[in-house]
Amino acid sequence: MNLDLNALIEEILPKQKEGKVASYIPALASVDPNQLGIAFYDLKNQQIIQAGDSKTRFAIESISKVIALLWAIKKLGIQEVFTYVGSRQTGFAFNSALNMEITHAKKPLNPFVNVGAIMTTSLIVQDKEINPHPFAEILAFTKEICNDPDLYLDTQIYLSEKETGDLNRSLAYYLKAKNMMIAKVEPSLDTYFKQCSIMVTTKSLANLGAVLANDGIKPWDNQRLISSESATVTKSLMMTAGLYNQSGTYSRLIGVPTKSGVGGGLVSAAPHKFGIGIFSPALNDEGNSVAGLALLQSIVDKLDLNIFK
Ligand code: GLN
Repeated sequence: MNLDLNALIEEILPKQKEGKVASYIPALASVDPNQLGIAFYDLKNQQIIQAGDSKTRFAIESISKVIALLWAIKKLGIQEVFTYVGSRQTGFAFNSALNMEITHAKKPLNPFVNVGAIMTTSLIVQDKEINPHPFAEILAFTKEICNDPDLYLDTQIYLSEKETGDLNRSLAYYLKAKNMMIAKVEPSLDTYFKQCSIMVTTKSLANLGAVLANDGIKPWDNQRLISSESATVTKSLMMTAGLYNQSGTYSRLIGVPTKSGVGGGLVSAAPHKFGIGIFSPALNDEGNSVAGLALLQSIVDKLDLNIFK
C-alpha cells in the first residue's frame, strides 16, 4: 500500500477538537480525545497494517450491534431475526424513543438503533428456550470474529452503562409494553450493556471488517464463520444505518459499509479488498468519530474503495 499513514494521521488528528468524547456514559468521559489510530486487513496481500493509536483498547459500544446481529442470525436464521426487527432507516437519533411511536412501527426499524439492538440481543437471550449464558456466547463469538482472544469486558464501563442507562431501559420497556419483547427485559438489557462494554483495538475491528469483506470467511484461516447471505445483509444495513443520521451522507461521501460506536470506533468492510478499523474518541453531534470519519474518507478516496464506482 502506497500510503504514508503516519503523515495522514498527523494531518487529520487536530480535527478531533471539533468533537467531544461521549460523556452520557460517565466511564467514557475520561478517555483522552487526542487519539487516532487505524488498522487495515489487506485481503489481497494477507497482511495487517497499523498506524497511530492502533493498539489502544476502547469500548466497542454500538459496533457490538453488528456482532450480535450476526450471532442472532447464526442461531435463528435471517428470516426469524427480521420478523422481529426491520431494516429501515430511521431519521432519528440512535437512542430515540420517538421513532417507533411516530412511524407506528410494529417492530424496531433496524438492528443498529438502540431499540433494535436491544431487540436483537433479546433474541439471543431467549431463543425459544431460556439461554443461561447469552453474554458468554456473544463474548466468545466476538473473540472469534475479531480474531482477538484477549478482548474483555470492562466492568467499570458496563456498570456505568447500567447505572445511567435509563433511556435504553425505557426503550426495552416500550417494546415490552407493546408486546414486541420476547425475552425478559432486565437480562436483555444486562446483556446489551455488557456487549457494549467489550474492549477492542482497531486491529480487532479490522479483522471483523475483513470477515464481512471476505464474504463471511475468516481470511486468517480460510474457514467460513458466517453465511455469505448474512455478511451481505449486514453490509447493506451498515451502509443504510451504520452511521445513524449520517448514513446517507457518508453513503454519498464514502460509499463503504461502515458502523460506528460512541467509544470512537469505526469498522468498515470494503468488499474483497479491506477490513478497516479506526479509533478516535471525540464524536460529532450524531455520535460518530470526527477524526475517524475524516481519516476514513481520505483513505477511501486514496485507495479508490467506493463500492459504487
Ligand atoms: N452503549 C451505547 C448506548 O446504548 C451505545 C450507543 C452507540 O455506540 N451509539 O447508548
